[in-house]
Amino acid sequence: MKHLLEVHHLNVVFRSREKELQAVRDVSFHVNERETLAIVGESGSGKSVTARAIMGMLPSPYGRIKGGEIHFQQRNITQLSKKDMQKIRGSEIGMVFQDPMSSLNPTMIIGEQISEGLRQHQKLSRSAARDKTVELLKLVGIPDAANRYKQYPHEFSGGMRQRVSIAIALACNPKLLIADEPTTALDVTIQAQILDMLTALQEQMGSSILLITHDLGVVAEVAQRVAVMYAGMIVETGTVEDIFDRPKHPYTWGLLQSTPKLDANSQERLIPIEGTPPSLHASIAGCPFAARCPYAMNVCVEHLPASISFTEQHSARCWLNDPRSPALHTPAVFRRDKRSPALHTPAVFRRDNDAEAYS
Ligand code: SF4
Repeated sequence: MKHLLEVHHLNVVFRSREKELQAVRDVSFHVNERETLAIVGESGSGKSVTARAIMGMLPSPYGRIKGGEIHFQQRNITQLSKKDMQKIRGSEIGMVFQDPMSSLNPTMIIGEQISEGLRQHQKLSRSAARDKTVELLKLVGIPDAANRYKQYPHEFSGGMRQRVSIAIALACNPKLLIADEPTTALDVTIQAQILDMLTALQEQMGSSILLITHDLGVVAEVAQRVAVMYAGMIVETGTVEDIFDRPKHPYTWGLLQSTPKLDANSQERLIPIEGTPPSLHASIAGCPFAARCPYAMNVCVEHLPASISFTEQHSARCWLNDPRSPALHTPAVFRRDKRSPALHTPAVFRRDNDAEAYS
């Protein structure tokens, strides 16, 4: 499958009071044509910063790409001038933000906000842009589109505003749509409608979606592949089936165990992940999850684990997957075959192994 977007060893830093804050650390992933990749993680894990780095929208002058490359359609877009990046943004890469009220201009009518991009990127005349805008409003499910064209954002409900944001992002048929928590500010029924609409439009337009979310329920519904981020790093990546059925990283286990299931028969108790993520100011020598991980060994605190691949698509950064690790048992709750008798405490709870052996 052809890669539309490739991110190689991306590092993003913010300058704060003479200190450098490492928001994204050595992040690599790709998005295939016509697929949805979800980046999932807690607040502050670096997922939105990664999205903004791809869009060339890091807050200036504090945020900058310190290392790595971002290739979009085989072109390294970190090398582009502001002007060239502006041409790509909105025409080839569209973005939907979490809060449509803050991404829409409250002083401009909705129709103008959509047609502005069409005139700028597709060089349409005013009347052609107007017709296309009305079509787009209909496409994203806005009733009475011709009259709604003339209204301001405050005259729309939250769900309708998010539909308008999606219409703006899709106006020029972008190859890639970056959706940053697109349903977080909406109630559950509207969330489902927006997700269904995004999936239908993706099929219709043949775009790829990079979905940023903290919600595993959303991931299961729309994504084909998932990258799990923690403290600025990708700690596990795989297909939706890999992540939900065969997760290999304790942080992914924690996320899954703390996510409510909509299965009425489910008797499972939700187990929160204890503790908080490390400060982005801190320099972390070992695994960033070590302070919260019930499986942590000495080696985890001292040495950063390498990414280990299980299949072409599935990999994780955890010492438990190293062949020299004492043992590795995915907790039985995640095994497909629930009849498995091996419901014992993994040997990896042992903390007395020798860190030197892994260096
Ligand atoms: Fe836990 Fe160690 Fe794996 Fe990090 S490397 S997730 S601390 S077991």
